[in-house]
This record gives sequence, C-alpha cells and structure tokens, in this order.
Amino acid sequence: MVKKLGMLPVLLAGFLWLCSFAEGKGQEKTGKVFTVVLDAGHGGHDPGNIGNGAKEKNVALDIVLAVGKELEKHKGIKVIYTRKTDKFVNLYVRGKIANEANADLFVSIHCNSHNSNAYGTETFVLGLHANKRNFEVAKAENEVIYLEENHEANYAQYDINSPESVIGLTIMQEEFLAQSIELAKLLQDNFTVKLKRKNRGVKQAGFIVLHQTFMPSVLVETGFLSNRNEKNYLTSRKGQAEVSRNIASAIVRYKKNVTDNIAIEEPPVSPVKEHPAPGVVFKVQIAAGNNKIEPKRYNFRGLSPISMETFGSVFRYLYGETSSYDEARKLQQQAKGKGYDNAYIVAYKNGARVSVNEVLHN
Ligand SMILES: [Zn+2]
Repeated sequence: MVKKLGMLPVLLAGFLWLCSFAEGKGQEKTGKVFTVVLDAGHGGHDPGNIGNGAKEKNVALDIVLAVGKELEKHKGIKVIYTRKTDKFVNLYVRGKIANEANADLFVSIHCNSHNSNAYGTETFVLGLHANKRNFEVAKAENEVIYLEENHEANYAQYDINSPESVIGLTIMQEEFLAQSIELAKLLQDNFTVKLKRKNRGVKQAGFIVLHQTFMPSVLVETGFLSNRNEKNYLTSRKGQAEVSRNIASAIVRYKKNVTDNIAIEEPPVSPVKEHPAPGVVFKVQIAAGNNKIEPKRYNFRGLSPISMETFGSVFRYLYGETSSYDEARKLQQQAKGKGYDNAYIVAYKNGARVSVNEVLHN
C-alpha cells in the first residue's frame, strides 16, 4: 500500500534524507557513536498543555535535560537536543536537527492532558490513528504548527483536523517501524514494571514531528498534567528523576540490542529454507531517502553491486543479490562493517518485495 504524500515543500526536501551517504558524516557512524536526539516538546510562546498550573513545555524540558545527563555518562552515546532552553522550535526544524545529525534515535518527550481523570504513560510511533483517542492526542500535539510562521507552506501536505486524512504510517518511518516499536516497548516496560505507572500502551498515530525524521522515532507521553496526582509527580524532583532514569535506561537497552546485532526485524531462528523457492532473492537494504544517488560503488563506501528502487517518493538502495539466505546474512554483515549499522535483509519473490519471514517459512 503506497500512501500518496503530495508535494513535499522544497524546504523539507533537502534534509528528509538519510545523511549516511555524506562521507564526513558517515565516518562518525563507523566509529560506533550512537547518536540520540532528545526533543523536549513545545517551548517559548508554545506552553503545550497547562494542567493544574504546570506547563508541559517546562516539564518536558526538565525531563529531557535529565535524560540527556544520564545518557551522557555512557561512552559511545552522543546526545543532541532540539532545545536546551525555553525557546520555540518549529516541528520541521526538530526533524531537521535529527536528520542532519544522522541520528540513530529520535525521542520526543511530552505530557498528556484530558478532560477526564485519565492517568498513565503511553508511547507513540508513527502510524494510522487506530481510534479517536489516539487521533486526539496526535491532533493536540500537531496543533503547535499554527504557532509557526509560514505553517501553510511548510505543512501543506497535512490536514490535521481530519482523522481520515491521516499522516499515517509514512514511507519514511515504515522503514523504521519495528525498531521504533521495540524502543517504545522498552520504555513502557520500564514505566510499568519499575515505576508501577499505569501502562496505556504502545500506540500509533499521525504525529507531524515523527513524520519529519528518518530514523527510529518515538513520542513519549510521560503522564497527564490534567491529573493532579500525576502533575504533582511529574513536577517533583523525585518524579522527574525516576521518569528520566527509566527513559535513559530504555534507550541504553535499545542501543545494546542494536549493537549486539540482536536483530529486531529478522525471522526467528527456526529451521529456515536455505534456498527458499524459485524466484526468491534476497538483498540488503542499506539506505533510503528522498534524494536520488547514482548506485555506484564510490557513493556507497565501496560496496558493490548497489541497486536502486523507488517506493512512493523514496529511493531505496540495496546491496547485493542472492538466492541464499545464508549468503544474504554475510552481505548484511559486510554492509554493517562499512558503517551501515541499520542494514537489513529484504526479500523479493518474482521481483516483488515480500516479507523475509514468509519466504523462509512457507
Ligand atoms: Zn505536547
């Protein structure tokens, strides 16, 4: 299912692009630095929700700064902030910061609000609004674009008031869905198991800010300021310390899983068919983006052969081609060795992309 994205504003086109082609930036990755972009929601003339007198922008920033401090203790993790002070940052600029940093993760921190006594934490990845409540959360967070200058031009593709016109699971974030969900689960597990917070779950909805990034991305609603107990907790020193420590530890755990190559997207280790079926081939996807790059060895750190395919408005770049899954795993390791840390195996049947699981087990 290909979603029509419409014309991306020229402004966006330049950086909606995985920067790993750029030699300079690519070098950092081969050094195994894991870059996390922490995004404190709202700021400046946008207070976010104001529940029981607390401003979301302040709580989000306090938590983000504490998460960052915790992460910076870890060698091998680099933290980038979309804001470190009380200032307004356009949504698309938040994504731009993450994309230009060639980040490994984007984590946006917010607080919820509801006219009921609702409480608990929930973590979102980009996707279709599964229900009215998810849509409302996304809509409330998306409305900040009205506080930006030129929002008509910069967000022309979005109709944030219509549940039908969903921002949806986009062709960019689709590539990172499994990883985004993995992090979201780790976060919710920490909140629930370690902090005994109410688990509202891992959810999907159409958040504009998650639509801007080209890496695994989540948006954490750390609790409801509209609920007096949670407002007190989230504005307390103890509450902020606990929440941020657990966000940081989920991120560290995620990084460990990625670094140890605990493949998130790969099929379970049950007997697989080494040569699945006639007409099936495997390739290794190493990158994707809005820019067209010549599929030549020198553009891809010496990897060859490189093929290119289009998916919606995105160009996918793939390394190798083989009918053997075992061989494909070797190609994947080679790609990772060249710094394409997120390289993963994809399968084709008679030229059409299919799930790897399907061809290995059926
Ligand atoms: Zn918010």
